Amino acid sequence: MKCPIETRENAEVLLAYCSRSLDAERTAILDDHIRICPGCREFVEGQRALWKALDAWEATPVSADFDRRLYQRIQKEVSWWDLLMRPFRPLLFRQGLPIAATAGLMLMAVLLFQHPAGAPSPPGPESAQVEGLAPEQVEHALDEMDMMREFNRLVRPDTTEPKM
Ligand SMILES: [Zn+2]
Repeated sequence: MKCPIETRENAEVLLAYCSRSLDAERTAILDDHIRICPGCREFVEGQRALWKALDAWEATPVSADFDRRLYQRIQKEVSWWDLLMRPFRPLLFRQGLPIAATAGLMLMAVLLFQHPAGAPSPPGPESAQVEGLAPEQVEHALDEMDMMREFNRLVRPDTTEPKM
C-alpha cells in the first residue's frame, strides 16, 4: 500500500487506525505497513501517546451553572450596548454624524442616564450661563443645546413625534 502519511485520504485511515476505529482488514494492512515504515511508526506512536495522555487527563469539572452565567453576562453586555446605541441609530443613519459628534452624544447619554432629567431642561440656568461668554462660545453652547434638544427628541420619542 501507499504510505498513509504521503496521501491525504490515507492519513485519515491512519488516524482511524490510531483511534482503533478501523476495520480489521485495513488494520492488518496498516500493521504490516507500520512495521516497515519508520515515518508511520513514529506517527502512530505519537498518536497513541497523545490518546493515553488524553485518557489520563481529567478535566477540571466546570461548575453546573457556568454556561448560564456566561450567557447571562453576554446578554447583559449586549443589551447594555444595544440600549445605549438605540437612540442614535436613526440619527446616525439619517444624518451620518461624524464620530466626534457621536462621541459627544454618547457622553450626554451617559450623563442623562446618570441624572435622568424629567421634562425638557428648564431654560433659566442655561441662559444665565450664556451671558458673559464670548460670541463663539455662545454659538458653541447654542450648538450643544440644539444637539441636546435633538437628543431629547430621539431619546423620548413619546413626548415629541420625530419626523421620519
Ligand atoms: Zn508510511
